[in-house]
Order: sequence, then structure tokens, then C-alpha cells
Amino acid sequence: MKRLQFILENEQATVDFGKRLAELVINIPIKSMVVFLNGDLGAGKTTLTRGFVQGMGHNGNVKSPTYTLVEPYELEPYRVFHFDLYRLADPEELEYMGIRDYFQPFCFSFIEWPEKGTGILPAEDLIIDLEYVEQQRRITLVAKSVNGEQIINKLV
Ligand code: ADP
Ligand code: MG
Repeated sequence: MKRLQFILENEQATVDFGKRLAELVINIPIKSMVVFLNGDLGAGKTTLTRGFVQGMGHNGNVKSPTYTLVEPYELEPYRVFHFDLYRLADPEELEYMGIRDYFQPFCFSFIEWPEKGTGILPAEDLIIDLEYVEQQRRITLVAKSVNGEQIINKLV
């Protein structure tokens, strides 16, 4: 299955879904993954990523890397990279940052505003869309690789 859509009723549901994703990648296991996160400001991209990072074992805060572009989390044996490319002026900047080193085995990347990094970012495994539906959110997952499909199959 390549596509899955459902409603996240509240913030906690978004966090819990991120945690569930973490559980899945550890258990399947998925060795590395690139997730593109789409959705308007406030749609829940950072909230979902927070759930994932916490699900991978991080206990502290998860803040949006709006100015730093990327926030790394060292969660042995994994590394999670949370990107927010909203303020990226030129995709080339990512090259200067040496981000190619981030897309390695045991690395999971969650990327907000991935269209800003077109041409530099690697191909994604999963696209996650978050949309406002009244006070809730609708989430749509689309698999773009075998890894992505494995994840969606476990979610249904
Ligand atoms: P983004 O990173 O997409 O800009 P944030 O995750 O920073 O969005 O903010 C999302 C906002 O929406 C937060 O205020 C959060 O409490 C709220 N939120 C997250 N998920 C849901 C949901 N499923 N239903 C309602 N509100 C949500
Ligand atoms: Mg955000």
C-alpha cells in the first residue's frame, strides 16, 4: 500500500503518531529514512517530529530549528535530523553545511519545507501532508520507496 489518510484529533494524537513511527522504524527495522513534511504553518510538522524524536529515546525539549535550519539528535545507535528549511534562501546553502553527510545509515531525517531544498536533498521515502480540518488535522502519508511502503503497510 502506497497511501494512507486519517484524522489526528488533537495535538496528543499527532505526538503519538510520531512516536508510533519511531517504534515502527526500530522494529521493522528500517535502517535510514528521509521524510518530507508538507503543510501550512501550524499544521503540526514540528509536533509530529517531536513525537518521533521522543519515540527514538530523546527526553528533552524539541524546538523548531527555524534559524539553525537543522537540529541533530544523537540517539545511539541512531541519529535524527530535524530540518526546517522555511528560511533557506538558496538550496546551495545546504551543500555548504555539508548536509550530504546526514543521509547515512542509521540516520532519520524529518524535513519541513523540503521544496526549499530541491536539487540538493536526497529522494524521500515518505511524504507526510498535514492539513487543517476545523480544529483537527488530516494526515496523508505517501510512500515513495520500499521502506516507505513497509511503514505504511504496518500502519494499516
Ligand atoms: P508546524 O511545524 O507545521 O508549523 P507546529 O507543530 O509547530 O506546526 O504547530 C502545530 C500546532 O497545532 C500546535 O499549536 C499544536 O498544538 C497544534 N496541533 C498539532 N496537532 C494537532 C491536531 N492533530 N489537532 C489539533 N491541533 C494540533
Ligand atoms: Mg515547524
